[in-house]
Amino acid sequence: MRTVYVNGEYMPETEAKVSIFDRGFLMADGVYEVTSVLGGKLIDFAGHTARLHRSLNELDMAEPCTDDELLAIHRELVERNNIVDGMIYLQVTRGNPGDRDFAFPSADTKPTLVLFTQSKPGMAESPMAKIGMKVISIDDIRWGRRDIKTVQLLYPSMGKMMAKKAGCDDAWLVEEGKVTEGTSNNAYIVKGNRIITRELSNDILHGITRAAVLRFAREAQMEVEERAFTIAEAQGADEAFITSASTFVMPVVEIDGKAVGTGKPGSVAARLREIYLEESLKAAI
Ligand code: PMP
Repeated sequence: MRTVYVNGEYMPETEAKVSIFDRGFLMADGVYEVTSVLGGKLIDFAGHTARLHRSLNELDMAEPCTDDELLAIHRELVERNNIVDGMIYLQVTRGNPGDRDFAFPSADTKPTLVLFTQSKPGMAESPMAKIGMKVISIDDIRWGRRDIKTVQLLYPSMGKMMAKKAGCDDAWLVEEGKVTEGTSNNAYIVKGNRIITRELSNDILHGITRAAVLRFAREAQMEVEERAFTIAEAQGADEAFITSASTFVMPVVEIDGKAVGTGKPGSVAARLREIYLEESLKAAI
């Protein structure tokens, strides 16, 4: 049985409880982070911590603890659950004010902090990286602050189900004719030696993996163009791929039933995946 963390305590998952008045439960008033673990070490912990601060700050939510404490909790959970490869999920909510009210509670309501692990042995050797993903496109009807990593995940969840129903692996979200991102990842296309991905704004989550992959791509002398693209442009590209903390770099081989490039995972995505895994492992803590 897993050991999880809830508000200062480690306990078996079956004993973990959060109030029915918690604003995370009643109002999706919470933010989260997912950090990958490879070989027992945390991948880009500093990046995830920085984005957590940003999400909390944008929502006027209190910091649950210090960065050192957060790191210690992550490490303790890895150790107690013998995680070699997997993920650590962290969620902070505006806490339990003792009743339901739209107004934010007073400052003496403590934030709720929950962390748990998900073991995924051999996560870096995902078979999907060799096969590639199939995606469909759907309308992006999410709210306007997608740069904040909130637990408001109903539409992304519905998008995954629409993809599943269509026999595909994920959905790319489209707004005003242009791809914003995947349901839980950032979206890219490749044309020759050029990697194209939407620029940062409130329209997309500022992926921690995105930042790392673009840095490694530039260091490897690949061209990077940050701009939006259409589904038609993606279907006509040489390659397509996605990035996220849990999938790293994952090729996309089909979009709305049309093969991208050769219909097989491309060499640019494969190379970026290799560089990302190698460099991230080197820097893991
Ligand atoms: N966009 C969305 C909507 C996401 O949910 C995620 C993953 N949480 C990402 C992009 C990728 O972000 P990261 O690389 O930090 O996992």
